[in-house]
Amino acid sequence: MISFDLLHKDGRARRGRLTTPHGQIETPIFMPVATAGAIKGMTPKDLENTGAQICLANTYHLHLRPGEEIVDYAGGLHDFMGWKKPILTDSGGFQVFSLPKVSIEEDGVRFRWKRDGREVFLSPEISMEIQQKLGADIAMAFDECVAWPATWDEADKAVDRTLRWLDRCIEAHKRPDQALFAIVQGSCFDDLRARSAKATAKRNTVGIAIGGVSVGEGHDLMMQAVDAAEPHLPDHKPRYLMGVGYPQDLVEAVARGIDMFDCVLPTRLARSGVFFNRRGSHRITHRQYRKDRYPLDPQCQCYTCQNFSRLYLHHLVKSKELLGTTLLAIHNLTFYQDLMTMMRQAIDESRFEEFRLSFHASYSQGDRRSQFELEMDEDQTETLRKTFDRQVERQKKRAEGGKKPYRGGPRGGKNGGKGGPKGKRPSNTKRRRRQ
Ligand SMILES: [Zn+2]
Repeated sequence: MISFDLLHKDGRARRGRLTTPHGQIETPIFMPVATAGAIKGMTPKDLENTGAQICLANTYHLHLRPGEEIVDYAGGLHDFMGWKKPILTDSGGFQVFSLPKVSIEEDGVRFRWKRDGREVFLSPEISMEIQQKLGADIAMAFDECVAWPATWDEADKAVDRTLRWLDRCIEAHKRPDQALFAIVQGSCFDDLRARSAKATAKRNTVGIAIGGVSVGEGHDLMMQAVDAAEPHLPDHKPRYLMGVGYPQDLVEAVARGIDMFDCVLPTRLARSGVFFNRRGSHRITHRQYRKDRYPLDPQCQCYTCQNFSRLYLHHLVKSKELLGTTLLAIHNLTFYQDLMTMMRQAIDESRFEEFRLSFHASYSQGDRRSQFELEMDEDQTETLRKTFDRQVERQKKRAEGGKKPYRGGPRGGKNGGKGGPKGKRPSNTKRRRRQ
């Protein structure tokens, strides 16, 4: 019922199509994260309009609240959260291993839920049972994700345990309308990544993920982990790099043959007032946006960019209005989906390397240019300069003859008194001359 077709290869970059009971997914794809069954501050309709083909929900959060029984009672995750397209659930392992007091046994992991202190136990069998009740299109195997940095011995043990747990997951997974994905571990050790990938590839799962990345190792080590594992992954299975990442990470991982990604970054950063565009990431609360009437990205077709200016978004985020978060999240997720669309097109047309170079050229130039030049094409910059020049001309004329410009109050504007909007004093040079 769930299948993957590899449509085209351009170097190591791949174009594929994943068919699920809730529709087809064109890969490479980015999956937004609906942690507790919701993208924070957004409706499923908003999410669909960003171009999202699939989203991810967290087993750990849904198991603890409201519990998989309630989700099952609601008719499964799709009905529960009102999202009709495909969904992937993680295994809960990643969240558990990041908790401070967790005891790992061969059977599973035991931890206390910080909200009410109750003891919770998760194992491969329990994770499979929960995920089958949640009813996503794709379920993830329960793995052991070691913290970073880890020693070779720790990572080696986690690779073996993850394989033993994978076999238990395969045994416990019965739902035919749900695909099971295995996870490769091995931290930042090439030999372990290769061993884990080879052994995982032999198991019977629909897809394979590379886990244990995006845990603080940085871009270079992350790509090294992909390089070590990828050659051992079979062509006919989709590859998913878990919890990644920044736009540069996505481009580089696609170049290395990865098909699927998920990350909280575009929505989490939206909540702290950060937006993305093809020049990089920017903070909307920065003073430079206070009087900026341009959209976040003049080339973006999202609802936010079509209707709102940076100065309004600056105001919303500064005033802690919820709408600010929503509008930034809509834009950021659209930016990520547009990036994936561009990558898919580039692979289809066998020009991915060209795309990759041009992406890095413009993305890294980011903040080195002035804000006016930052977002504009040559033509747009020219138009903007002309408009700006005209405004300056008008102000000059107004200052020379007729009406005097506003100088900041009744005391302003006379013989170099307290002129200017903030009562700026005349310069030292002038004062010195008078003395
Ligand atoms: Zn936009």
